[in-house]
Amino acid sequence: KILKGFQSLFTATAIQRLLDEDAIIIGRVNCDEFAMGSTNENSTYGAVRNAADISKVPGGSSGGSAVAVQADTCLVSLGSDTGGSVRQPAAFCGVVGMKPTYGRISRYGLLAYASSFDQIGILSKSVKNVALVLEVIAGYDEHDSTSSEKQVEDYAAGLSFLEKKVGEENKKKIAYFETALQHKSIDPEIREQTFALIEKLKSEGHTVESVDFEYLDYIIPAYYVLTTAEASSNLSRFDGVRYGHRTDDPKDLMEVYKKSRSEGFGAEVKRRIMLGTFVLSSGYYDAYYTKAQKIRRLIADKTFEIFEKYDFILMPASPTPPWNIGEKMDDPVEVYLADIFTVQANMVGIPAISLPFGKHKNGLPMGVQFMANKFEEKSLLAFSNYLMKHW
Ligand code: GLN
Repeated sequence: KILKGFQSLFTATAIQRLLDEDAIIIGRVNCDEFAMGSTNENSTYGAVRNAADISKVPGGSSGGSAVAVQADTCLVSLGSDTGGSVRQPAAFCGVVGMKPTYGRISRYGLLAYASSFDQIGILSKSVKNVALVLEVIAGYDEHDSTSSEKQVEDYAAGLSFLEKKVGEENKKKIAYFETALQHKSIDPEIREQTFALIEKLKSEGHTVESVDFEYLDYIIPAYYVLTTAEASSNLSRFDGVRYGHRTDDPKDLMEVYKKSRSEGFGAEVKRRIMLGTFVLSSGYYDAYYTKAQKIRRLIADKTFEIFEKYDFILMPASPTPPWNIGEKMDDPVEVYLADIFTVQANMVGIPAISLPFGKHKNGLPMGVQFMANKFEEKSLLAFSNYLMKHW
């Protein structure tokens, strides 16, 4: 709402690169306001519904992107993933959703939520489409200094690699966290089916082992301190002067700021601006922001240590299946906690993918997630393609 009437002055690099390849962009889809949410309900337009069951949320924030693919209105959609907003809706809607390495795709033109976490992600029904689109939109961009100069690989050509190999090269080393699969928040059916998948992967000759990861319960608090801090800073530009909505009849400049922001932002965005401003305030900066940064480093160090021995980390995409629209609107903390399995990849900046696997016994889609080391998109996509063809 705060951007009502605002028309962007330039095209995002990811979109421009697609247009340059004659992609047909058919429309924009619904997202939680400023990508803050896990259900698509924090949108001024209301929530998109899950096409598998319209009483359920599609996930978020990029719920519209997931349903657009799920309902076959398009072949591919883009979303933004700061803490799981591409992977979790992909899981809730039974499609593929991938977030690449931080810096792989330019963020120029992507609305900033938490800039050190944000990445554009790709959703589709096939891994191949994801790979093809990644090839087009990835790569260095002079408009985004955090975009990587690393060569973009031929992700789509790499997909057949694993299919053809039958020897030892085909076998992957995969880590999982027993603490995640035994976590109190996890739905029993998701736990059981994930363990069944682990057994299946082992029976196919892959090494799948549990590793210790002692930081699981610190991930969500640290994430919500850091992302709200960055958001409070990023969103200060929406002041009623530069963009979109401006309050009618302000008395003075302060009122332009205060009323435009109060009228233009939704409840969840305001909550996060306040939380982020608080954690950055001088008396609390060290206790919250600095401490959360230290936790981010510990999580990254531990994650990279795991990748010294393993190719991938396996994790459910979400601890629960999609819930009812409206069900958790009064309990934001419960919704935050449901991001427990997706935010690690953003904290660390690594690529991660959610693949549709099986159905929950309630008939709803489920997703399993694989994370890989930085810039390992090619092997992650190849393995994902192999899995999708084999289960
Ligand atoms: N659900 C998470 C949040 O609200 C993730 C959002 C996202 O990835 N954009 O912060």
